[in-house]
Amino acid sequence: MAERAAVYSERCRGHGLRATPQRVEICRELARMHEHPDAETVCRRVRRRLPGLSLDTVYRTLKTLEAEGVIRRVGSGGDRVRFDANLERHHHFICSRCGAVHDFPCKAFDRLTAPRNVKAIGVAHTVNVEVRGLCAACAAAERQRAPASRRPRSAAGKTRNRRDLTTG
Ligand SMILES: [Zn+2]
Ligand SMILES: [Zn+2]
Repeated sequence: MAERAAVYSERCRGHGLRATPQRVEICRELARMHEHPDAETVCRRVRRRLPGLSLDTVYRTLKTLEAEGVIRRVGSGGDRVRFDANLERHHHFICSRCGAVHDFPCKAFDRLTAPRNVKAIGVAHTVNVEVRGLCAACAAAERQRAPASRRPRSAAGKTRNRRDLTTG
């Protein structure tokens, strides 16, 4: 973890970003977090060390870091904007219920290149795969809910038959 923080600050410096205390603390916190935080979460955490930090500064810093390619934005549309500080090549599993973002490595996905028709839209830099579905916790919650509502009618009859057999 300490190593990642070091790589991170190195990268910030490499991009010629002035190392203001706010920036340093935000970078440090991002390197420590694995859950793709949103700006509010980053702000809450960094405030423990920099009580005067404003959400506005956090937004501005994240924007700068994103523009410099130090972090990237995850999700789009109706999702809350989250930031990703994982510097290793990876792809995302996004839970459509709770919005959790999980990283996963995949050599096959890494080899994907943008299709030809993308040229008409613009210049592609990277290709990242986004898998959407239910995370393990949400899938488990779903399974628990399912049996009661989805129990077929015939099951009741079968249970009665079985009980008849055991009593008789
Ligand atoms: Zn979930
Ligand atoms: Zn990620």
